[in-house]
Amino acid sequence: MNTADFIQRLPKAEMHLHLEGAIPWDMTREYADVSLPEIPEWLANDYRYNDFAHFGETMRLGIQRVLTSVERYQMVASAIFQTLAAQNVRYVEISFGANLVLGKGFSVTDVTLALKEALPQGLSGAVIGAFNRERSYTLDDELVHAVFNSPVDGIDLHGTEILQSAQPYADIFEAARQRGLMTKAHAGELQGAESVWEALKHLKVKRIEHGTRSIEDETLVQYLVDEQITLDMCPTSNLKLCVVDDLRAHAIKTLFQKGVRVTVNTDDPTYFGCSLMDELQLLVDVLGFTLPEVAEVQKNAFRAGKLSDSERAAIFTEIDALVSEL
Ligand SMILES: [Zn+2]
Repeated sequence: MNTADFIQRLPKAEMHLHLEGAIPWDMTREYADVSLPEIPEWLANDYRYNDFAHFGETMRLGIQRVLTSVERYQMVASAIFQTLAAQNVRYVEISFGANLVLGKGFSVTDVTLALKEALPQGLSGAVIGAFNRERSYTLDDELVHAVFNSPVDGIDLHGTEILQSAQPYADIFEAARQRGLMTKAHAGELQGAESVWEALKHLKVKRIEHGTRSIEDETLVQYLVDEQITLDMCPTSNLKLCVVDDLRAHAIKTLFQKGVRVTVNTDDPTYFGCSLMDELQLLVDVLGFTLPEVAEVQKNAFRAGKLSDSERAAIFTEIDALVSEL
């Protein structure tokens, strides 16, 4: 079995995916009133965003012109899920900016339900309502009520860590945990290991989105191993946002070898020009992962996901059978 066959047949999970960054480019071209290139410039391998603000600006048109109703959210989610299902993805965690939904005048509950309804047969998933570091919230805020009174499966903290630390969100994450919601936070991407420590300490999360720069602190790496913290990593995203200069030096391999539970994901696939299968192929071609190691990375994802024990066991049996064919 060659690598491409193995990667296609391997049951996969996408753990770190933003709906806004996965709006199919064809839809933005269709609904924007301006002429847009069929192949956008950021698909080039050597393309780099100037900074996080430039990246946010690039996504703006799709967010404004495509996400104009709850039905459009569902249409986008449906297209994303079909693309994932075609890659033999069995589980997805998709997040959306709750502030965006409310800002557009939609109900967080309606959008969450629309996303769940869009999941096709054979693909299970969790819908994550995200807060953004652009501002702080208290438990009395309208947005916090809207998220907590909706059927979201979990919450995330998005946006650049440079804006503010994780501390102001501690109460919200504590309240989310009390409600039985999954909690995760972006950290260790645009800021160093200290930002990961802050997310772990103040938000008490077991899932860090990215965590790439955890590698800068040996004590932190050991803590991640000991506490079984999962890092939902996105190598191509890190390259195009200049978090790393060279994929060959990406921390995912060293962190995996040291025993950290890493997963591999696309983050915002429309704007980084990558699919989940591309990212797995990259682990092999660029970072030297063996195929059984790629399978282990997928097991990490299913370990962290919201699956029943029997669903997880069935998928592990399937993965082990595939590995035994090598
Ligand atoms: Zn992200």
